[in-house]
Amino acid sequence: MHRCRGVLAIVPALALAAHAALAAETLVRTQQEYGEAVRSARPGDTIILADGEWRDFEIVFAAEGLPNKPITLTAETKGKVVIAGRSNLRIAGEHLVVSGLVFRDGYTPTNDVIAFRRTKQHLANHSRVTEVVIDRFNNPERHETDFWVMMYGKGNRFDHSMLIGKSNTGVTMAVRLDTEASQNNGHRIDHNYFGPRPILGSNGGETLRIGTSKYSLTESRTLVERNYFERCNGEVEIVSSKSGSNVFRGNVFVESRGTLTLRHGNDNRVEDNVFLGNGVPHTGGIRVINKRQTIRNNYLFQVTGRRFAGALVVMNGVPDSPINRYHQVEDAVIENNTIIGSDHIELAAGSDDERSAVPKATRFRNNLIANLETKDSIAVHDDISGIHFAGNVYDGVAKVPDADGFEHRRVEFERGGNGLAYPVDAINAGVGIPRDLVVVQRDETGPRWYPKPAPDIRFGSGRTLAIGPGQDSLTEALEASSAGDVIELETGEYTVTKIPVLAHPVTVRGKGGNESAEARPLVRFERSALVELADGGSLELVGLAIDGSLAPDAYGNSVVRTSRYSMLGNYAVRAVDCEVANLNTNHSFNFLLVSRHTFARSIDILRSSFRAVTGHIVALDREIDDLGIYNGESVVVEDSRFADVEGAVLNVYRGGTDESTFGPEVSFRRNVLEDIGHGKRNKTLASVFLHGVQTVSIEDNDLSGSQPIRVVETVGEPITRIDGNRFSESAPPVVVPWQP
Ligand code: CA
Repeated sequence: MHRCRGVLAIVPALALAAHAALAAETLVRTQQEYGEAVRSARPGDTIILADGEWRDFEIVFAAEGLPNKPITLTAETKGKVVIAGRSNLRIAGEHLVVSGLVFRDGYTPTNDVIAFRRTKQHLANHSRVTEVVIDRFNNPERHETDFWVMMYGKGNRFDHSMLIGKSNTGVTMAVRLDTEASQNNGHRIDHNYFGPRPILGSNGGETLRIGTSKYSLTESRTLVERNYFERCNGEVEIVSSKSGSNVFRGNVFVESRGTLTLRHGNDNRVEDNVFLGNGVPHTGGIRVINKRQTIRNNYLFQVTGRRFAGALVVMNGVPDSPINRYHQVEDAVIENNTIIGSDHIELAAGSDDERSAVPKATRFRNNLIANLETKDSIAVHDDISGIHFAGNVYDGVAKVPDADGFEHRRVEFERGGNGLAYPVDAINAGVGIPRDLVVVQRDETGPRWYPKPAPDIRFGSGRTLAIGPGQDSLTEALEASSAGDVIELETGEYTVTKIPVLAHPVTVRGKGGNESAEARPLVRFERSALVELADGGSLELVGLAIDGSLAPDAYGNSVVRTSRYSMLGNYAVRAVDCEVANLNTNHSFNFLLVSRHTFARSIDILRSSFRAVTGHIVALDREIDDLGIYNGESVVVEDSRFADVEGAVLNVYRGGTDESTFGPEVSFRRNVLEDIGHGKRNKTLASVFLHGVQTVSIEDNDLSGSQPIRVVETVGEPITRIDGNRFSESAPPVVVPWQP
């Protein structure tokens, strides 16, 4: 069913006959019609997928176009062709263009959603994928690995596309160099919108990787230009360059945890990029490893990360490094970068017995480093005599390296036409980024016809639904709620006889707020949990009394539990001004019970009390494979009381020696613990057990008659602060320090 449309209509009549034969447009409505159209496609042809949902469609687009006569696969209406179910796209051949497709509501049955190859031998070259969307097209099993875009071949372009919400393991997009046919490729990746990518809680959450360590001494020559990375939080590497001669130019990184890392490979250039950390924890900049890297004209604003996630990190190498470790920094040029209000610049970072090769023949010049409040922001971890400093200007930096090449000046800033801050005084004109740096705008990236993701829905952002006491009034309100709603409870007793399954954030709040304890609504439940969280679900409990005594006489009950299966959505649980009691109908009754391959973005317990509990209060301990996977990022327990708890108040476990994540983080402060942890099923032998937590603050707590606090440090440079606690009839904390 060939037909002429659009472009041909404007071709003058005389030319029409000749062109029509060369450029057919074929609208296809079924997978079979598509297959036939591809087989008969000639250079210049266009195959158009009819609007609608195409389910379980493994698209093979293998054809041979010509320069200036590509074969195109596109949508009848861009954005109205949705590829769903178990689907993917493989492109192979020469001069092909794909545009306008949306991958949503499904996942790939193979390793890739879009692959620039059909088989290992049959690759795509000189082809382009443009204006394509992959939106939460995740394998439902969180730690089943797949990839969204895999570039092979040479001379390909991926542009104006949007990759949002990848939540399962596996880099979002990668360039592969695994055969000669994919090396020295000259690909272009530009004007794409990447993100948000939620915290994965494991290695394998990179957003863009170019190469692998194995082929890292090979040139890739990929240009990554004018892309927008927003909240790409998967793991410590946002972009991981593992090959040579790549250029990263004019990209914008907004509130993304992690860094652009020149992990392996030489001769890369990082220039004209903008990193807006905006004070968000763990936002980083650029990490430099290997030979002849150029880091020039980059702008970093309120980037907070430390250690390997600093604003600027120059690593130590390993002498005679194996290809997958750390090659020494040599002949790097780091110049004209502007670093404002950022917490950490790390020089000779990672120095230890193994990483002892200090940076050499490196020039660090004309950089502008300024803080509004004075910060001790430049750390020197080893001998930096191989870094030559010149013309750098600083303000508000407590200590600069003991070398020439740093000058202190008071720097006043003004906003340039591109929105970035520039020093007012002409004397600083040659320092920091140039005036003509062009900042790519969010609207210029991704396809214009697909909405960019809104900020995450927060607790309390929806309606308020007032309810009165009784059997299942709360159950029904929870089932009828929408994202961000607040269910407000009058004083009285509420019984929940089913387990509401939440797939959005909800707040359940006593109407009296935190007033008197008597006014608190009393919530009881008859099933094995008060609430279960499914993908997208989060729960906030405020000003409630929760009593577990109606729960079944069976082990393993909980107040809140996650899905029993793998969850892609990171959830939050908050309890504020709550009084929880009698979680003791049988053994192992937890406040929060989680399953393997689920992940808490945050757990907050504030000004609450817990009494008579046979399990743990919070146990994030289901990832026992020691692979660096864990169950939750941030745990805050403050100003709360715990009494007669057989398990631990907190049990957080992250095993293994992986260094790809920032968390978990635990703050445990100003709590009172009485008679905690003595149950015979409490294998932690602790009142608070933390294994592999990266940042720990345990301060100003009172423990009596309780098992000790136990902290086992693992890989990284964990920060453990235990201070101001008081113990009566409780052993002092036991800390097993990390020994690299
Ligand atoms: Ca990684």
